[in-house]
Amino acid sequence: MRTFAYRTADDVTQAVTTHGADDQVAYVAGGTTLLDLVKLDVMRPTQLVDINRLPLGEVETLDDGRLRIGATVTNTELAHHPEVKARYPLLSQALLAGASTQLRNMATTAGNIMQRTRCPYYRDASAACNRREPGSGCDAMHGINRMHAVLGVSDQCIATHPSDMCIAMAAIGATLTLEGPDGKREIAFNDFHRLPGDQPEKEHELRPGELITYITLDTPIEGAGAYYLKLRDRASYEFALASAGALVSIQDGVIHEARLALGGVATKPWRSHEAEQALHNQPAAVSTFEMAAEAAMQDAVPHEHNAFKIPLARQAIVRALREACKDAENANEPR
Ligand SMILES: Cc1cc2nc3c(=O)[nH]c(=O)nc-3n(C[C@H](O)[C@H](O)[C@H](O)COP(=O)(O)OP(=O)(O)OC[C@H]3O[C@@H](n4cnc5c(N)ncnc54)[C@H](O)[C@@H]3O)c2cc1C
Ligand code: SF4
Repeated sequence: MRTFAYRTADDVTQAVTTHGADDQVAYVAGGTTLLDLVKLDVMRPTQLVDINRLPLGEVETLDDGRLRIGATVTNTELAHHPEVKARYPLLSQALLAGASTQLRNMATTAGNIMQRTRCPYYRDASAACNRREPGSGCDAMHGINRMHAVLGVSDQCIATHPSDMCIAMAAIGATLTLEGPDGKREIAFNDFHRLPGDQPEKEHELRPGELITYITLDTPIEGAGAYYLKLRDRASYEFALASAGALVSIQDGVIHEARLALGGVATKPWRSHEAEQALHNQPAAVSTFEMAAEAAMQDAVPHEHNAFKIPLARQAIVRALREACKDAENANEPR
């Protein structure tokens, strides 16, 4: 058994100071990722800093119309928040597609962003895994890789980012506020997670000791329809094989603005600018959606057991776009 110290913090400065940018120290929020990984001997912190008492539990609309979410707002609170349901339905749908009620009651917004891959070799301390132990190899590459990624992969790592919530955030656009030993800074959500490249152990742009304090969503696209589709092995309590989050606005019979992000198929929350370009100024028709799906998956690289994800993701994209367009058309109808 490994022992660790446990500290609580009452404000952000105290949390950052207590952490001390020490790589043996970890922040803990809901604990639904971290404590699992500690029990599996994958993460071995000598000290935890509990951030649940920090004043980061509110959701508020800023003067410029953006929505600011505190880091410790739970997935349940966020999914059911009236502003989220009314103005960011894609986020609410994606959150409710994730995990289970009990987990969502504990899981926090920042913890969800920081959750680790579900690659079984990463979670098995006896397996070779470049992400867990740089340079040790990758047992997934020639192992059971049915759940693994086809977009953004490298010859070092093919693990998917497992979050549903992050797919909605990638489509909506957001800014993360970070606070650490060197002060406060901001980073665009879509620049936060890193591709594995030749350093899969570097999963994100957080610097040592930095804490995510807020996630601020961009203002929503006016009149946009939204749809999150998650395809998985069973209907609940399961990670995505492929998922698609779509936001579409329609003007004068053509797609005016489209945002598309993909989950379950990529090494980070995957915004598909290729698909968005293919949709721009095109009629909201199945042939257009198929062209966008083709564009989104054109650079996919399959491994032995996961080639099925490419047509599956294409179908998820077509269906999500079709439903988002229907939603936009309904919103445009005079009442
Ligand atoms: C059985 C199971 C099924 C699941 N299914 C799904 C699913 O279908 N879809 C899905 O999206 N997710 C799923 N999840 C993952 C779940 O959503 C995450 O475990 C959860 O969101 C993590 O949040 P947390 O607050 O519990 O994080 P914690 O476990 O407390 O922390 C996770 C990581 O984030 C760091 N961290 C936490 N807060 C901060 C902060 N403010 N700043 C910097 N670092 C921070 C911690 O140090 C740690 O490294 C599942 C989890 C389980 C156990
Ligand atoms: S795919 Fe990535 S996380 Fe999984 S074993 Fe390989 S290096 Fe590790």
